[in-house]
Amino acid sequence: VPEPSTARRDALRALLRAAELDALLVTDLVNIGYLTGFTGSNAALLVHVDGDAAGRFCTDGRYRAQAAEEVPDLERLIERGSALALAGLAGQCSVRRLGFESDAVTVEAHLALVEAAGAVPLHRAPGLVHRLRLVKDDAEVAALRRACAVADAALADLLAAGGLAPGRTERDVALDLETRMRRHGATGPAFETIVAAGANSAVPHHRPTGAVLRRGDLVKLDFGALVEGYHSDMTRTVVLGPAAGWQRTLHDLVALAQATGRAALAPGAEVTAVDAAARAVIVDAGRGEEFPHGLGHGVGLQIHEAPLLGPTGTGELAAGMTVTVEPGVYLPGRGGVRIEDTLLVREGGPESLTRTTRELVEV
Ligand code: ZN
Ligand code: ZN
Repeated sequence: VPEPSTARRDALRALLRAAELDALLVTDLVNIGYLTGFTGSNAALLVHVDGDAAGRFCTDGRYRAQAAEEVPDLERLIERGSALALAGLAGQCSVRRLGFESDAVTVEAHLALVEAAGAVPLHRAPGLVHRLRLVKDDAEVAALRRACAVADAALADLLAAGGLAPGRTERDVALDLETRMRRHGATGPAFETIVAAGANSAVPHHRPTGAVLRRGDLVKLDFGALVEGYHSDMTRTVVLGPAAGWQRTLHDLVALAQATGRAALAPGAEVTAVDAAARAVIVDAGRGEEFPHGLGHGVGLQIHEAPLLGPTGTGELAAGMTVTVEPGVYLPGRGGVRIEDTLLVREGGPESLTRTTRELVEV
């Protein structure tokens, strides 16, 4: 069985042929990690249509041993200016049309690359690796599954330990949740954990503060785990004590919108249609203005990646994409509810990779 990264480079070669390029100079580190397994902080990769033997991986001396271990299947070059070194090498590798990641290169870096490539012309080739990353392979789905399971386990632990209680601060709870994710095997949080209590829960991307949790508060927790380079993303909104009528009504509305959005996830569905299906539930309830963001986003090696599930998104879903569905309704000064899961798009209905109950939890 070939390594996933070998299959990914083969898939990229098909895109290069279609774009009539002889090679692609990959300089985006996340894309390099995807195509090679390398996890260091400086590298460049030349992927040649003729195969791996014609390509080259380059990093600097700090990563000599790490590269030998992580990228044993490619010929390696050790050079501080990795991208420039490979641009200079392209001419010697019989590259006539060299693509570069024009969506990941600064103007200054581009000028330096043009100079280094000499007689070999550079062609803009944005988004090629991102197009491959849209659909996750088995190894990626397995890593995402683990990242989601860690988030589920950390929240279950937090609740079981009484970690959501009046008197604690938002910051205490965020740190507690992040520590529990690490104990379950996360290398870190997938992004800055959001804990928003009371009126703060009405701020969609509230940063945890010293605000103290009080009985009767809605508490919104938006968090995820980073596992093997993959991110999970989940939001649950709980109540400290018995829910007030308006809190339950709000939670029911968001839960219905979220279920509608999940049900609309299908191969071939337009991303705008998925957003519209969930949004209609909230608009029909007269709360359209209070749902001020898109329905969801792709998630994988980055916490936010294509496809965007929103009114301004483009394209269709395909089996193997992993996306979030996260409607929210926010009542300024009172509180807000968001419910979010990370889901795998597949035939016959999506699989929710995050598994924590979506029922309203009264702590
Ligand atoms: Zn989130
Ligand atoms: Zn999200």
